[in-house]
Amino acid sequence: MRRIVLHDTRTGGLQPLEPRDPGRVGIYACGPTVYGRIHVGNARPFVVFSLLKRFLAHEGYAVTFVANVTDVNDKIYDAARAGGVPSERLAREMTAAYVADTDALGLGRPDAEPLASETIEQIVALIATLIERGHAYAAEGDVYFDVRSYSPYGELSHRDVEQMDQGEGVDGASRKRDPLDFALWKAQKEGEDTAWDAPWGRGRPGWHIECSAMAEALLGVGFDIHGGGSDLVFPHHENEAAQTAAARGAPLARLWVHNGMVRLEGEKMAKSVGNIFLLHEALAAHGRDALIAYFCAGHYRQPIAYSAERLEGAARSVARIREAARRLAAGPSPAELAPLREAFFAALAEDFNTPRALAAVFDWVREANRRDEPTGDADLREMLGVLALEGLLDADAEGPDEAARELLARREAARVARDFATADRLRDELASLGWEVRDGAAGPALVPRG
Ligand SMILES: [Zn+2]
Repeated sequence: MRRIVLHDTRTGGLQPLEPRDPGRVGIYACGPTVYGRIHVGNARPFVVFSLLKRFLAHEGYAVTFVANVTDVNDKIYDAARAGGVPSERLAREMTAAYVADTDALGLGRPDAEPLASETIEQIVALIATLIERGHAYAAEGDVYFDVRSYSPYGELSHRDVEQMDQGEGVDGASRKRDPLDFALWKAQKEGEDTAWDAPWGRGRPGWHIECSAMAEALLGVGFDIHGGGSDLVFPHHENEAAQTAAARGAPLARLWVHNGMVRLEGEKMAKSVGNIFLLHEALAAHGRDALIAYFCAGHYRQPIAYSAERLEGAARSVARIREAARRLAAGPSPAELAPLREAFFAALAEDFNTPRALAAVFDWVREANRRDEPTGDADLREMLGVLALEGLLDADAEGPDEAARELLARREAARVARDFATADRLRDELASLGWEVRDGAAGPALVPRG
Protein backbone atom coordinates (compact mmCIF):
# COMPACT_ATOMS: atom_id res chain seq x y z
CA MET A 1 0.00 0.00 0.00
CA ARG A 2 1.11 3.53 -0.80
CA ARG A 3 2.18 5.63 2.20
CA ILE A 4 -0.48 8.30 2.72
CA VAL A 5 0.05 11.42 4.82
CA LEU A 6 -2.51 14.02 5.89
CA HIS A 7 -2.19 17.30 7.73
CA ASP A 8 -3.28 16.81 11.34
CA THR A 9 -4.49 19.92 13.17
CA ARG A 10 -3.67 18.53 16.62
CA THR A 11 0.03 17.94 15.95
CA GLY A 12 0.21 20.76 13.39
CA GLY A 13 2.08 18.66 10.82
CA LEU A 14 1.82 15.91 8.23
CA GLN A 15 1.06 12.52 9.78
CA PRO A 16 0.96 9.08 8.19
CA LEU A 17 -2.44 7.42 7.96
CA GLU A 18 -2.06 4.39 10.24
CA PRO A 19 -5.55 2.96 10.68
CA ARG A 20 -6.77 1.69 14.05
CA ASP A 21 -7.95 -1.49 12.31
CA PRO A 22 -5.52 -2.49 9.54
CA GLY A 23 -7.07 -2.08 6.10
CA ARG A 24 -10.10 -0.16 7.37
CA VAL A 25 -10.54 3.60 7.63
CA GLY A 26 -13.31 5.40 9.51
CA ILE A 27 -14.02 9.03 8.62
CA TYR A 28 -16.42 11.32 10.48
CA ALA A 29 -17.09 14.76 9.01
CA CYS A 30 -19.35 17.30 10.67
CA GLY A 31 -22.39 17.91 8.49
CA PRO A 32 -24.81 20.81 8.30
CA THR A 33 -27.10 22.34 10.87
CA VAL A 34 -30.37 22.10 8.98
CA TYR A 35 -32.14 25.46 9.24
CA GLY A 36 -31.90 26.58 5.59
CA ARG A 37 -30.69 25.40 2.17
CA ILE A 38 -26.94 24.70 2.17
CA HIS A 39 -24.49 27.00 0.38
CA VAL A 40 -21.36 26.22 -1.62
CA GLY A 41 -19.23 26.68 1.51
CA ASN A 42 -21.23 23.99 3.36
CA ALA A 43 -20.75 21.67 0.39
CA ARG A 44 -16.95 21.79 0.55
CA PRO A 45 -16.44 19.28 3.40
CA PHE A 46 -19.03 16.98 1.75
CA VAL A 47 -17.01 17.08 -1.49
CA VAL A 48 -13.55 16.88 0.13
CA PHE A 49 -14.35 13.89 2.37
CA SER A 50 -16.41 12.08 -0.29
CA LEU A 51 -13.44 12.34 -2.68
CA LEU A 52 -10.95 11.38 0.06
CA LYS A 53 -13.06 8.26 0.61
CA ARG A 54 -12.86 7.46 -3.13
CA PHE A 55 -9.08 7.83 -3.07
CA LEU A 56 -8.65 5.65 0.03
CA ALA A 57 -10.97 3.01 -1.46
CA HIS A 58 -8.86 3.10 -4.65
CA GLU A 59 -5.80 2.47 -2.45
CA GLY A 60 -7.44 -0.69 -1.11
CA TYR A 61 -8.95 0.47 2.18
CA ALA A 62 -12.46 -0.43 3.30
CA VAL A 63 -13.74 3.05 4.15
CA THR A 64 -16.71 4.00 6.32
CA PHE A 65 -17.65 7.65 5.85
CA VAL A 66 -20.05 9.14 8.39
CA ALA A 67 -21.48 12.64 7.91
CA ASN A 68 -23.97 13.71 10.55
CA VAL A 69 -26.94 16.03 10.36
CA THR A 70 -27.37 18.47 13.25
CA ASP A 71 -31.15 18.64 13.51
CA VAL A 72 -31.43 19.88 17.11
CA ASN A 73 -29.82 23.29 17.57
CA ASP A 74 -30.51 26.89 18.66
CA LYS A 75 -30.28 28.10 15.06
CA ILE A 76 -33.12 25.75 14.09
CA TYR A 77 -35.34 26.96 16.95
CA ASP A 78 -34.66 30.58 15.94
CA ALA A 79 -35.33 30.03 12.22
CA ALA A 80 -38.49 27.99 12.92
CA ARG A 81 -39.83 30.67 15.25
CA ALA A 82 -39.11 33.37 12.65
CA GLY A 83 -40.86 31.32 9.97
CA GLY A 84 -43.78 30.36 12.22
CA VAL A 85 -43.30 26.61 11.72
CA PRO A 86 -42.57 23.79 14.19
CA SER A 87 -38.79 23.29 14.53
CA GLU A 88 -39.10 19.57 13.91
CA ARG A 89 -40.82 20.22 10.58
CA LEU A 90 -38.25 22.83 9.50
CA ALA A 91 -35.40 20.43 10.38
CA ARG A 92 -37.07 17.57 8.51
CA GLU A 93 -37.68 19.67 5.38
CA MET A 94 -34.17 21.13 5.39
CA THR A 95 -32.64 17.67 5.90
CA ALA A 96 -34.53 16.49 2.79
CA ALA A 97 -33.34 19.57 0.89
CA TYR A 98 -29.73 18.94 2.02
CA VAL A 99 -29.94 15.33 0.78
CA ALA A 100 -31.40 16.45 -2.57
CA ASP A 101 -28.83 19.24 -2.99
CA THR A 102 -25.84 17.02 -2.19
CA ASP A 103 -27.29 14.13 -4.26
CA ALA A 104 -27.05 16.44 -7.26
CA LEU A 105 -23.25 16.57 -6.74
CA GLY A 106 -23.23 12.97 -8.00
CA LEU A 107 -20.84 11.72 -5.31
CA GLY A 108 -23.19 9.16 -3.77
CA ARG A 109 -24.23 9.23 -0.12
CA PRO A 110 -21.97 8.83 2.94
CA ASP A 111 -22.18 5.35 4.49
CA ALA A 112 -24.11 6.72 7.46
CA GLU A 113 -25.88 10.02 8.10
CA PRO A 114 -26.93 10.01 11.74
CA LEU A 115 -29.39 12.56 13.08
CA ALA A 116 -28.82 14.15 16.49
CA SER A 117 -32.54 13.66 17.24
CA GLU A 118 -32.12 9.89 16.82
CA THR A 119 -29.03 9.67 19.05
CA ILE A 120 -30.49 11.16 22.25
CA GLU A 121 -30.11 7.95 24.27
CA GLN A 122 -26.36 7.74 23.60
CA ILE A 123 -25.96 11.47 24.23
CA VAL A 124 -27.67 11.22 27.65
CA ALA A 125 -25.50 8.21 28.56
CA LEU A 126 -22.31 10.06 27.57
CA ILE A 127 -23.27 13.10 29.67
CA ALA A 128 -24.05 10.80 32.63
CA THR A 129 -20.55 9.29 32.36
CA LEU A 130 -18.98 12.77 32.31
CA ILE A 131 -20.88 13.70 35.49
CA GLU A 132 -19.85 10.42 37.18
CA ARG A 133 -16.20 11.00 36.34
CA GLY A 134 -16.25 14.53 37.70
CA HIS A 135 -15.93 16.31 34.35
CA ALA A 136 -19.44 17.78 34.23
CA TYR A 137 -22.07 19.15 36.61
CA ALA A 138 -25.81 19.75 36.50
CA ALA A 139 -27.13 23.22 37.34
CA GLU A 140 -30.84 24.05 37.33
CA GLY A 141 -31.62 21.52 34.59
CA ASP A 142 -28.59 22.42 32.43
CA VAL A 143 -25.39 20.37 32.38
CA TYR A 144 -21.97 21.95 31.79
CA PHE A 145 -18.57 20.49 30.98
CA ASP A 146 -16.01 21.52 33.58
CA VAL A 147 -13.18 22.67 31.31
CA ARG A 148 -10.60 23.04 34.07
CA SER A 149 -11.15 19.40 35.12
CA TYR A 150 -9.58 18.27 31.84
CA SER A 151 -5.99 19.53 31.73
CA PRO A 152 -5.14 18.81 28.05
CA TYR A 153 -7.96 21.21 27.02
CA GLY A 154 -6.76 23.41 24.17
CA GLU A 155 -4.49 20.75 22.63
CA LEU A 156 -6.41 20.64 19.34
CA SER A 157 -6.86 24.36 18.65
CA HIS A 158 -3.61 25.36 20.40
CA ARG A 159 -5.27 28.22 22.21
CA ASP A 160 -4.40 29.52 25.59
CA VAL A 161 -7.22 28.63 27.97
CA GLU A 162 -7.49 32.26 29.10
CA GLN A 163 -8.13 33.41 25.50
CA MET A 164 -11.07 31.12 24.89
CA ASP A 165 -14.66 32.16 24.44
CA GLN A 166 -17.23 29.38 24.05
CA GLY A 167 -19.49 31.74 22.12
CA GLU A 168 -22.44 30.96 24.39
CA GLY A 169 -22.91 34.60 25.37
CA VAL A 170 -25.01 35.33 28.43
CA ASP A 171 -26.94 32.07 27.94
CA GLY A 172 -26.39 30.08 31.12
CA ALA A 173 -23.62 32.41 32.32
CA SER A 174 -25.01 32.57 35.86
CA ARG A 175 -25.20 28.77 36.10
CA LYS A 176 -21.63 28.11 34.94
CA ARG A 177 -19.00 27.60 37.62
CA ASP A 178 -16.46 29.07 35.24
CA PRO A 179 -17.09 31.19 32.10
CA LEU A 180 -14.92 28.68 30.19
CA ASP A 181 -17.39 25.84 30.73
CA PHE A 182 -19.74 24.89 27.91
CA ALA A 183 -23.20 23.36 27.73
CA LEU A 184 -23.75 19.61 27.32
CA TRP A 185 -27.49 19.79 28.03
CA LYS A 186 -29.86 22.74 28.06
CA ALA A 187 -33.09 22.79 30.05
CA GLN A 188 -36.13 23.39 27.86
CA LYS A 189 -36.87 27.07 27.47
CA GLU A 190 -40.02 29.02 26.64
CA GLY A 191 -40.66 28.79 22.91
CA GLU A 192 -38.61 25.61 22.32
CA ASP A 193 -40.95 22.99 20.91
CA THR A 194 -38.81 19.83 21.22
CA ALA A 195 -37.38 18.31 24.41
CA TRP A 196 -36.38 14.96 25.85
CA ASP A 197 -36.31 13.56 29.37
CA ALA A 198 -32.98 13.16 31.15
CA PRO A 199 -31.97 12.41 34.76
CA TRP A 200 -31.19 16.11 35.36
CA GLY A 201 -34.38 17.41 33.72
CA ARG A 202 -36.24 17.78 30.46
CA GLY A 203 -34.31 19.54 27.73
CA ARG A 204 -32.07 18.93 24.72
CA PRO A 205 -28.40 18.40 24.00
CA GLY A 206 -25.74 21.00 23.23
CA TRP A 207 -24.19 20.89 19.77
CA HIS A 208 -20.74 19.50 20.67
CA ILE A 209 -21.95 16.45 22.63
CA GLU A 210 -24.19 15.45 19.72
CA CYS A 211 -21.15 14.85 17.50
CA SER A 212 -19.13 13.01 20.17
CA ALA A 213 -22.05 10.60 20.63
CA MET A 214 -22.88 10.16 16.93
CA ALA A 215 -19.23 9.55 15.97
CA GLU A 216 -18.70 7.00 18.74
CA ALA A 217 -22.00 5.23 18.01
CA LEU A 218 -20.99 4.55 14.40
CA LEU A 219 -17.18 4.39 14.41
CA GLY A 220 -16.19 3.65 18.02
CA VAL A 221 -13.55 5.62 19.92
CA GLY A 222 -10.15 6.22 18.31
CA PHE A 223 -11.34 6.15 14.70
CA ASP A 224 -9.04 7.36 11.96
CA ILE A 225 -10.02 10.73 10.53
CA HIS A 226 -12.21 13.44 12.04
CA GLY A 227 -12.95 16.10 9.45
CA GLY A 228 -14.79 19.37 9.04
CA GLY A 229 -14.37 23.01 8.13
CA SER A 230 -11.51 24.97 9.72
CA ASP A 231 -14.12 27.22 11.39
CA LEU A 232 -15.07 24.22 13.57
CA VAL A 233 -11.64 23.71 15.18
CA PHE A 234 -12.67 25.88 18.11
CA PRO A 235 -14.89 25.51 20.01
CA HIS A 236 -16.73 22.61 18.31
CA HIS A 237 -13.92 20.12 17.74
CA GLU A 238 -11.91 21.13 20.80
CA ASN A 239 -15.02 20.33 22.84
CA GLU A 240 -15.79 17.08 21.01
CA ALA A 241 -12.23 15.90 21.64
CA ALA A 242 -12.34 16.92 25.34
CA GLN A 243 -15.73 15.28 26.01
CA THR A 244 -14.78 11.89 24.57
CA ALA A 245 -11.28 11.79 26.04
CA ALA A 246 -12.62 12.81 29.47
CA ALA A 247 -15.42 10.22 29.38
CA ARG A 248 -13.55 7.31 27.78
CA GLY A 249 -9.93 7.89 28.71
CA ALA A 250 -9.03 7.53 25.02
CA PRO A 251 -8.87 10.00 22.13
CA LEU A 252 -11.90 10.40 19.85
CA ALA A 253 -9.90 10.37 16.59
CA ARG A 254 -6.34 9.74 15.42
CA LEU A 255 -6.14 12.53 12.82
CA TRP A 256 -7.99 15.85 12.67
CA VAL A 257 -8.30 17.07 9.09
CA HIS A 258 -9.78 20.50 8.33
CA ASN A 259 -10.82 22.08 5.06
CA GLY A 260 -10.46 25.81 4.34
CA MET A 261 -13.39 28.13 3.80
CA VAL A 262 -15.05 29.17 0.55
CA ARG A 263 -14.72 32.93 0.26
CA LEU A 264 -16.73 35.39 -1.72
CA GLU A 265 -14.82 38.63 -2.33
CA GLY A 266 -12.36 37.73 0.38
CA GLU A 267 -14.89 36.98 3.09
CA LYS A 268 -15.86 33.60 4.48
CA MET A 269 -19.11 32.41 2.90
CA ALA A 270 -21.63 32.21 5.69
CA LYS A 271 -25.30 32.78 6.22
CA SER A 272 -24.55 35.38 8.88
CA VAL A 273 -22.53 37.49 6.40
CA GLY A 274 -25.27 37.28 3.76
CA ASN A 275 -22.93 36.46 0.85
CA ILE A 276 -24.36 33.07 0.06
CA PHE A 277 -24.42 31.12 -3.14
CA LEU A 278 -26.79 28.28 -2.51
CA LEU A 279 -25.51 24.90 -3.68
CA HIS A 280 -28.60 24.11 -5.75
CA GLU A 281 -28.27 27.48 -7.51
CA ALA A 282 -24.57 26.90 -8.17
CA LEU A 283 -25.34 23.43 -9.55
CA ALA A 284 -28.05 24.81 -11.81
CA ALA A 285 -25.75 27.55 -13.07
CA HIS A 286 -22.54 25.59 -13.59
CA GLY A 287 -23.34 21.88 -13.59
CA ARG A 288 -21.86 19.29 -11.23
CA ASP A 289 -18.77 18.52 -13.36
CA ALA A 290 -17.57 22.12 -13.33
CA LEU A 291 -18.37 22.46 -9.64
CA ILE A 292 -16.39 19.32 -8.71
CA ALA A 293 -13.49 20.52 -10.90
CA TYR A 294 -13.71 23.93 -9.16
CA PHE A 295 -13.33 22.29 -5.73
CA CYS A 296 -10.47 20.06 -6.94
CA ALA A 297 -8.58 23.07 -8.34
CA GLY A 298 -7.92 24.29 -4.79
CA HIS A 299 -5.97 22.45 -2.10
CA TYR A 300 -8.51 21.37 0.51
CA ARG A 301 -6.68 23.14 3.34
CA GLN A 302 -6.55 26.53 1.61
CA PRO A 303 -9.43 28.97 1.41
CA ILE A 304 -10.86 29.18 -2.11
CA ALA A 305 -12.52 32.14 -3.76
CA TYR A 306 -15.95 31.64 -5.24
CA SER A 307 -15.70 33.82 -8.32
CA ALA A 308 -16.88 33.86 -11.93
CA GLU A 309 -13.24 33.63 -13.01
CA ARG A 310 -12.61 30.46 -10.99
CA LEU A 311 -15.81 28.82 -12.18
CA GLU A 312 -15.12 29.67 -15.80
CA GLY A 313 -11.66 28.18 -15.37
CA ALA A 314 -13.24 24.99 -14.02
CA ALA A 315 -15.70 24.86 -16.94
CA ARG A 316 -12.77 25.19 -19.38
CA SER A 317 -10.91 22.32 -17.63
CA VAL A 318 -13.96 20.11 -17.93
CA ALA A 319 -14.40 21.01 -21.61
CA ARG A 320 -10.73 20.26 -22.31
CA ILE A 321 -10.99 16.78 -20.81
CA ARG A 322 -14.23 16.08 -22.71
CA GLU A 323 -12.65 17.26 -25.94
CA ALA A 324 -9.52 15.15 -25.42
CA ALA A 325 -11.66 12.11 -24.57
CA ARG A 326 -13.08 12.10 -28.11
CA ARG A 327 -9.64 11.24 -29.49
CA LEU A 328 -8.99 8.35 -27.07
CA ALA A 329 -9.70 4.68 -27.59
CA ALA A 330 -11.12 2.30 -25.00
CA GLY A 331 -8.42 0.07 -23.52
CA PRO A 332 -5.10 -0.01 -21.69
CA SER A 333 -2.89 3.08 -21.73
CA PRO A 334 0.70 3.03 -23.02
CA ALA A 335 3.53 2.48 -20.53
CA GLU A 336 5.16 5.84 -21.48
CA LEU A 337 2.27 7.62 -19.77
CA ALA A 338 2.50 5.57 -16.55
CA PRO A 339 4.74 8.13 -14.74
CA LEU A 340 1.97 10.74 -15.13
CA ARG A 341 -0.57 8.35 -13.65
CA GLU A 342 1.88 7.71 -10.83
CA ALA A 343 2.30 11.48 -10.31
CA PHE A 344 -1.47 11.78 -9.95
CA PHE A 345 -1.70 9.20 -7.15
CA ALA A 346 1.49 10.42 -5.46
CA ALA A 347 -0.04 13.92 -5.26
CA LEU A 348 -3.16 12.57 -3.57
CA ALA A 349 -1.07 10.49 -1.16
CA GLU A 350 0.71 13.65 -0.05
CA ASP A 351 -1.92 15.50 1.93
CA PHE A 352 -4.60 14.94 -0.72
CA ASN A 353 -3.19 17.49 -3.15
CA THR A 354 -5.99 17.61 -5.75
CA PRO A 355 -4.62 20.65 -7.69
CA ARG A 356 -1.35 18.79 -8.30
CA ALA A 357 -3.30 15.66 -9.20
CA LEU A 358 -5.41 17.64 -11.69
CA ALA A 359 -2.19 19.04 -13.22
CA ALA A 360 -1.06 15.42 -13.76
CA VAL A 361 -4.38 14.72 -15.52
CA PHE A 362 -3.73 17.62 -17.92
CA ASP A 363 -0.14 16.51 -18.51
CA TRP A 364 -1.46 13.05 -19.34
CA VAL A 365 -4.09 14.47 -21.71
CA ARG A 366 -1.50 16.65 -23.46
CA GLU A 367 0.87 13.72 -23.98
CA ALA A 368 -1.96 11.45 -25.16
CA ASN A 369 -3.03 14.06 -27.70
CA ARG A 370 0.49 14.27 -29.12
CA ARG A 371 0.52 10.62 -30.09
CA ASP A 372 -0.24 9.52 -33.64
CA GLU A 373 -2.49 6.60 -32.83
CA PRO A 374 -5.50 6.90 -30.53
CA THR A 375 -4.36 6.39 -26.93
CA GLY A 376 -5.99 3.87 -24.60
CA ASP A 377 -8.05 5.66 -21.97
CA ALA A 378 -7.63 3.29 -18.98
CA ASP A 379 -5.27 5.54 -16.98
CA LEU A 380 -7.42 8.60 -17.49
CA ARG A 381 -10.58 6.70 -16.55
CA GLU A 382 -8.90 5.50 -13.35
CA MET A 383 -7.68 9.00 -12.40
CA LEU A 384 -10.96 10.73 -13.19
CA GLY A 385 -12.85 8.03 -11.31
CA VAL A 386 -11.10 9.03 -8.08
CA LEU A 387 -12.20 12.65 -8.65
CA ALA A 388 -15.74 11.53 -9.59
CA LEU A 389 -15.27 12.99 -13.09
CA GLU A 390 -15.19 9.74 -15.10
CA GLY A 391 -18.49 10.73 -16.74
CA LEU A 392 -16.48 13.18 -18.89
CA LEU A 393 -15.13 10.20 -20.83
CA ASP A 394 -18.45 8.84 -21.93
CA ALA A 395 -19.28 9.33 -25.57
CA ASP A 396 -21.50 12.25 -26.43
CA ALA A 397 -21.40 13.33 -22.82
CA GLU A 398 -22.05 16.86 -23.93
CA GLY A 399 -24.52 17.11 -21.07
CA PRO A 400 -27.63 19.18 -20.59
CA ASP A 401 -27.45 22.91 -21.10
CA GLU A 402 -28.03 25.54 -18.47
CA ALA A 403 -31.77 25.81 -19.06
CA ALA A 404 -32.25 22.06 -18.64
CA ARG A 405 -30.13 22.01 -15.50
CA GLU A 406 -32.14 24.82 -14.02
CA LEU A 407 -35.40 23.02 -14.74
CA LEU A 408 -33.97 19.94 -13.03
CA ALA A 409 -33.00 21.95 -9.95
CA ARG A 410 -36.49 23.50 -9.79
CA ARG A 411 -38.10 20.07 -10.17
CA GLU A 412 -35.89 18.78 -7.35
CA ALA A 413 -36.87 21.68 -5.09
CA ALA A 414 -40.56 21.11 -5.88
CA ARG A 415 -40.21 17.40 -5.13
CA VAL A 416 -38.54 18.10 -1.78
CA ALA A 417 -41.31 20.57 -0.93
CA ARG A 418 -43.82 17.79 -1.87
CA ASP A 419 -45.29 20.00 -4.59
CA PHE A 420 -45.71 17.05 -6.92
CA ALA A 421 -47.89 18.87 -9.44
CA THR A 422 -45.10 21.38 -10.14
CA ALA A 423 -42.49 18.60 -10.13
CA ASP A 424 -44.47 16.68 -12.76
CA ARG A 425 -44.98 19.77 -14.91
CA LEU A 426 -41.20 20.48 -14.86
CA ARG A 427 -40.48 16.85 -15.73
CA ASP A 428 -42.76 17.19 -18.79
CA GLU A 429 -41.02 20.43 -19.75
CA LEU A 430 -37.66 18.63 -19.60
CA ALA A 431 -39.09 15.82 -21.72
CA SER A 432 -40.08 18.35 -24.38
CA LEU A 433 -36.43 19.51 -24.41
CA GLY A 434 -35.29 15.92 -24.98
CA TRP A 435 -34.29 15.01 -21.42
CA GLU A 436 -35.54 12.25 -19.22
CA VAL A 437 -35.16 12.56 -15.43
CA ARG A 438 -33.76 9.45 -13.78
CA ASP A 439 -33.69 9.26 -9.98
CA GLY A 440 -30.72 7.08 -9.10
CA ALA A 441 -28.72 6.33 -5.96
CA ALA A 442 -26.48 9.29 -6.73
CA GLY A 443 -29.42 11.66 -7.14
CA PRO A 444 -31.47 12.76 -10.11
CA ALA A 445 -29.74 12.80 -13.48
CA LEU A 446 -30.73 13.92 -16.97
CA VAL A 447 -30.36 11.36 -19.71
CA PRO A 448 -31.15 11.98 -23.38
CA ARG A 449 -34.53 10.53 -24.33
CA GLY A 450 -34.15 7.51 -26.58
ZN1 LIG B 1 -19.59 18.10 14.72
